[in-house]
Amino acid sequence: MPWYKKLHWQIILGLVLGLIYGIVAAASGWGRFTDDWIAPFGDIFINLLKLIAVPLILASLITGVASLSDLKKLSRIGGKTIAIYIATTVVALIIGLVVVNLMQPGAHVPEDMKQKLEETYGSDAAGRARMAEAAKERGPLQPIVDMVPSNLFDSASDNRNMLQVVFFAIFAGVALLMVPAEKARPLVRFFESLNELVIKMVEIIMLMAPIGVFALMADTITSIAGDNLAQIGELLAALGYYCIAVVLGLILHMGITYSSLIKFFTPLSLKRFYSSISPAQLVAFSTSSSGATLPVTMEVAEKNLGVSEEVSSFALPLGATINMDGTALYQAVAAVFIAQTLGMGLDLGAQITIILTAVLASIGTAAVPSAGIIMLVIILESVGVPSSGIALILGVDRILDMMRTVTNVTGDLAVSTVVAASERQLHVPPPGEGLDLAPLELEKALG
Ligand code: ASP
Repeated sequence: MPWYKKLHWQIILGLVLGLIYGIVAAASGWGRFTDDWIAPFGDIFINLLKLIAVPLILASLITGVASLSDLKKLSRIGGKTIAIYIATTVVALIIGLVVVNLMQPGAHVPEDMKQKLEETYGSDAAGRARMAEAAKERGPLQPIVDMVPSNLFDSASDNRNMLQVVFFAIFAGVALLMVPAEKARPLVRFFESLNELVIKMVEIIMLMAPIGVFALMADTITSIAGDNLAQIGELLAALGYYCIAVVLGLILHMGITYSSLIKFFTPLSLKRFYSSISPAQLVAFSTSSSGATLPVTMEVAEKNLGVSEEVSSFALPLGATINMDGTALYQAVAAVFIAQTLGMGLDLGAQITIILTAVLASIGTAAVPSAGIIMLVIILESVGVPSSGIALILGVDRILDMMRTVTNVTGDLAVSTVVAASERQLHVPPPGEGLDLAPLELEKALG
């Protein structure tokens, strides 16, 4: 197949053209036109992905769990997955802290820019701090209570409650294992068939990905810049070091932690791994939401990497909701950066507190755009840094959100691949097969 027919090249093209269009639009004052005529295509794309997320979790997790031979296996796979998720998050935090302490990006913000940022984003920051306040006032066991839904339809109606859907699906799958096989069969068949349907829908939605990604990029650039492109340059000049620290940390974490996991614990080459997951990374980059990316994440895991459904259906929805290495790393860098900028030193004890709170905060962060910065307030308060400090970094948050979401999704995929390999459930397809073929298969199917 020629390269330009491959899905990930088409998505990259959409992304680059969206970027170019966004810059031209911002420079020429086409913000309104972009809002009215371009952005809606991005919204449609994200809506379609979100639409599919809940039925996908239900169908794949229920069939995944119900197909397990015994419950011991479920707890073994579950325990392993969660342990590696937490371990990689701790490593991410350590990398973030090392980078920010070595680079000292807070020492490079000019005093007048500091004031300007506080003035521009102060009220916005206060709003986020209020949201975080509500999150903080809850008791220590509240996150566990929140996981258990009182009404399935309520949880299914909001993608922030994805963990509740995960809980229900595992619960139902386990119960289904206990029902006599003959009675369980119709329901298992039903969910298997629903699963097939949802997977086909993801493939169809992905045909629209290049256009969706174009629109999302164009919209992101024009909304960050307003109709004033110079503003982006000014922001980047002041916060450039901070952005570089975050991005460097993310690259190091992917390059060292995930790459070592793949290299030493799976039969996959790094090239194969990264080229297989690129559609999910690109969608994560343009949507800034691991939740919205989940359908694509699952599709590339199963079709391109060969992770068994048993592992992917459990590990990926769980990972999308609780495993956020990129977010944790970003939170650590941001907390120390704000402290540096405000002239407050953070000793070793404070940095260890950051690690502990950031592990919990990243688990509690919803898989939606900008959620990470709200939880950052909790981390700042745990080390006595004023939460109004987030005004300093709000201006560049969207860009960093895109990058950390890519890391979050890559982490979920790396860990699931390792878990699948350790369970002998990684059946790598021959090169050239998988999601990239979807458009072609569809062309055939449609005659
Ligand atoms: N946008 C991120 C995600 O969905 C969460 C965050 O804001 O850090 O993975």
